[in-house]
Amino acid sequence: MTEPVRYTVIPEQPEAHCYRVSCTVADPDPSGQELALPAWIPGSYMIREFARHVVSIRAESRGRPVAIEKADKHTWRAQPCVGPLTVTCEVYARDLSVRGAYLDPRQGLFNGACLFLRPKGHEASACELEIRRPKGARYRDWAVATAMDRAGAKHRGFGAYRAADYDELIDHPVAMGELTFAAFRACGVPHEIAISGRHRADTARLARDLKRLCEHHIRFFGEPAPMKRYLFLVTALGEGYGGLEHRASTALLCSRDDLPLRGEAAVGERYRTFLGLASHEYFHTWNVKRIKPAAFSPYDLDREAYTGLLWAFEGITSYYDDLALLRCGLIGRRDYLELLGRGVTSYLRAPGRSKQTLAEASFDAWIKYYRPDENSPNATVSYYGKGSLVALCLDLTIREKTRGRKSLDDVMRALWKRHGLTGVGVEEDGVERLAEEITGLKLQSAFDQWLRATRELPLKRLLAAHGVEMILRPAESSSDRGGKPAASKRPGGLAKLGVVARIDADQTVLAQVLDGGTAREAGLAAGDAIVAVDGLRPGRGGLDAALAKRRAGETVRLHAFRRDELLEFDVQLKAAPADSCVLSELSGAGARPLERWLGISRG
Ligand SMILES: [Zn+2]
Repeated sequence: MTEPVRYTVIPEQPEAHCYRVSCTVADPDPSGQELALPAWIPGSYMIREFARHVVSIRAESRGRPVAIEKADKHTWRAQPCVGPLTVTCEVYARDLSVRGAYLDPRQGLFNGACLFLRPKGHEASACELEIRRPKGARYRDWAVATAMDRAGAKHRGFGAYRAADYDELIDHPVAMGELTFAAFRACGVPHEIAISGRHRADTARLARDLKRLCEHHIRFFGEPAPMKRYLFLVTALGEGYGGLEHRASTALLCSRDDLPLRGEAAVGERYRTFLGLASHEYFHTWNVKRIKPAAFSPYDLDREAYTGLLWAFEGITSYYDDLALLRCGLIGRRDYLELLGRGVTSYLRAPGRSKQTLAEASFDAWIKYYRPDENSPNATVSYYGKGSLVALCLDLTIREKTRGRKSLDDVMRALWKRHGLTGVGVEEDGVERLAEEITGLKLQSAFDQWLRATRELPLKRLLAAHGVEMILRPAESSSDRGGKPAASKRPGGLAKLGVVARIDADQTVLAQVLDGGTAREAGLAAGDAIVAVDGLRPGRGGLDAALAKRRAGETVRLHAFRRDELLEFDVQLKAAPADSCVLSELSGAGARPLERWLGISRG
């Protein structure tokens, strides 16, 4: 039995965003102990080089300094020493995201990947962690929220915690501050919600709704739940959106207006977005935290871990996140079909879907999805967006071909039994093979087309077979996200340039110029600042307002600055393409398959 590795976290200078973190190894490597910080954090597939936030580092043994030097960008090597080695570093923390570390006099939030050195060769050792309260009267009411096991700390308190190994240590994010708590049980498992940031949320309602959602997910995979407790760590901001999954918790970032207010009963669009995010991260408790690609078993935190399977781990999770809201009764069918219609719309609007396959999008997440630029819509496809539509196609295909006897739900439960409960990683072709085995269907050519080719997906036909009509119409404005019928009866919709524009310091700047659009053909480029449309400066309404009365076929003269040079373009407007998807229930014929699929009876 090796000695545990001991960590201490001191929020030492909140106003300077600084944590002091130490790591003590009782039996360091006699040839010189190496310690490293992860290059990335599981769940967010980008090299982040957390070591860049280490401001200073020193080592000591029994009160005497030990020399320590950098071995590579994220590894340090201490000189050999006899007896315990303690390495202490000062870490700058001003990334208030679900993937980073943050500290100020109002709140702290950290992921272990940002703070905890990994002593090489001791990865499997148990970890003990002491989290100290910042010094000063203003921190008297601070509490701690984490799903890590307590080892002496009081519930929600500072003090001692423990983890079975390094992998677990960095899989429990920690929040501290004057937090709002709410608690509930789902299928007997204690769940907590901890909110930091100013808000006026109805926490009782939040607890009630999340309980319903969590029980649905637990029963979907089958009781008992795989975690002994669960924590929703919510950071409420003015504007924000993001989530990261962990084995027994999730860190969520949301706008405070996304949280339900006291006295409100309906699920509005913003609260629906929050519930969808919570549902997504909670589903990951099974799908990616326990059912994992073999490429993540174990995680190699020094470098990229490539897999073509993110379509299954992110795409299937994205398919079930909103579907679960419907199946557990938090939203209705019309809401669900609106969300699905929006998903199809954003997929259809990215020309990159004809360039990059889903398997490529997954493999290249590290350099493409997580590092988007102005050409991303032309060159890439989202493994979330297309992945969820492939999950839909797979589900509906299985339901159709087995006459409703099997579905993607059965495949997910089989993945859980075979890989989640056993800890055996999923090989690159593992999801495809298991789907064939469980359903008895030949699915290989469908997978080839959906995952390894760029052919359009058979959405319309499959939806029709399940009682849903899919209609495509032109966008009515640049804020039209699809999902709903056209608001105006004007035929043809608006004339389109094929750009995504933003208003930047009162200027209309082209953020993206889409392949196949009229702006691209006329020679406009991303970054061009449009200063005049037919001699007039666009007003606050931007290009939408400037082009509102124009018809397809008309030519407009645009003046634009590219860097400091004024350029002139004659652009012939085209009718907006029919790329906004509206889904609605067909009456009659498809009622039974629709009910089986959506999991509720027609109401
Ligand atoms: Zn996800």
